[in-house]
Amino acid sequence: GPLDPDDGQRAYDLDRAHVFHSWSAQEKITPLVFAGGAGCEIWDFEGNYYLDFSSQLVNTNIGHQHPKVIAGIKAQADVLATVAPAHANLTRGEAASRILARAGQPFSKVFFTNGGADANENAIRMARLVTGRDKVLSMYRSYHGNTGAAVVATGDWRRVPNEYARGHVHFFGPFEYRTEFWSTSAAQESERALKHLERIIQSEGATSIAAILIETVPGTAGILIPPPGYLTGVRKLADDYGIVLIFDEVMAGFGRTGDWFAFQNDTVNPDGIVPDLITFAKGVNSGYVPAGGVIIPPWIADEFGERVFPGGLTYSGHPLAMGAIVATLDAMEEEGIVDNAARVGRDLLAPGLAALAAKHPMIGDVRGVGVFWALDLVSDPETREPVGPQVIAALKSELMKRGLLPFAADNRIHVVPPCIVTDEEVARALAIYDEAFTAVEA
Ligand code: PLP
Repeated sequence: GPLDPDDGQRAYDLDRAHVFHSWSAQEKITPLVFAGGAGCEIWDFEGNYYLDFSSQLVNTNIGHQHPKVIAGIKAQADVLATVAPAHANLTRGEAASRILARAGQPFSKVFFTNGGADANENAIRMARLVTGRDKVLSMYRSYHGNTGAAVVATGDWRRVPNEYARGHVHFFGPFEYRTEFWSTSAAQESERALKHLERIIQSEGATSIAAILIETVPGTAGILIPPPGYLTGVRKLADDYGIVLIFDEVMAGFGRTGDWFAFQNDTVNPDGIVPDLITFAKGVNSGYVPAGGVIIPPWIADEFGERVFPGGLTYSGHPLAMGAIVATLDAMEEEGIVDNAARVGRDLLAPGLAALAAKHPMIGDVRGVGVFWALDLVSDPETREPVGPQVIAALKSELMKRGLLPFAADNRIHVVPPCIVTDEEVARALAIYDEAFTAVEA
């Protein structure tokens, strides 16, 4: 229907009166109000349109309101809107088989959760139960979700006020631009980061470590593409020390890198190593209905053949979420959406963002793949001093003014449009970023 600015005001007032927000001081936020969306666009009640280059929380891989996904949810709602997880359900089986077809060998089962945090929670549980060990190693530069073990596995600031779970140890992963290892090449960064990880494993006591949990490409922490050899080295350490290797593909999975999974991407994982468990959420159905899960190989599933798996959720494999998954994965396949993400990354974003960095000295580093890019912003290109929050706030406002909804984290702008983004939309966005950087520099 027509947009009514009064509805926008009412949405804002109700939110401020009654909605308690994530990760916020409640009195210090001014939420944007959105009325609707379609494809790569989202709009407010005043009729302002924005190119959504945030994909919300980097989850709308298929864009907003994809008609086939909306139809899939409606069709399932007409048949059976909910069912207990213990019962078999056709749509759930169809969703699991589609996910497994994309994950490839050796994976054979999917445990469905409500989102990414509880996917990691359950992957950690499986690793502990199959190894009989306790500790979980994860990176400082990571986010794994807000629940008990997931938030303590998380490396960033959100862990610190929440450290109630036990058995978590952190390490530094590779990050060439801001190296912790004084390295001067990708090969050196990889080698030294692996040496550091091995020393942590030995010092913690290898036989106490159940899992290494890493984002295949750390996302919120800065879109840190691992240097060649790193994932191969982590796989080898996990094998050498009998540790379960979990790849968190919650943000990187389902098309974002230009492959179904980030571990299938040649830039990310040139040797093609395979983890023991994969966690997913977000892009599996673009978040139209909350869902996540753990992708499991036979050797781990079989551990729970005779023995009870002590975990479950009322909404594990919720039919509406499953309907959204089936429709999303089918539409992505039919419409070549993953290939589009790869092509846009290679042909448009890689050169376009490099040109932007050449023009604006504030852009210290450009890194990414597919539709998964970060601009690392610096006040001094020599020292690589990160820009402060005022610069990021100014950039956000200049981008919004010009009709682009950005994703900002720390000193970075992440360029993370939906995988369906068109050439015209990328061109429009690149022009907006260019103008916004010029305005902030002035
Ligand atoms: N893991 C990664 C890599 C994420 O980016 C996120 C969310 O941003 C999560 C886990 C947590 O997912 P959720 O918010 O669905 O619990």
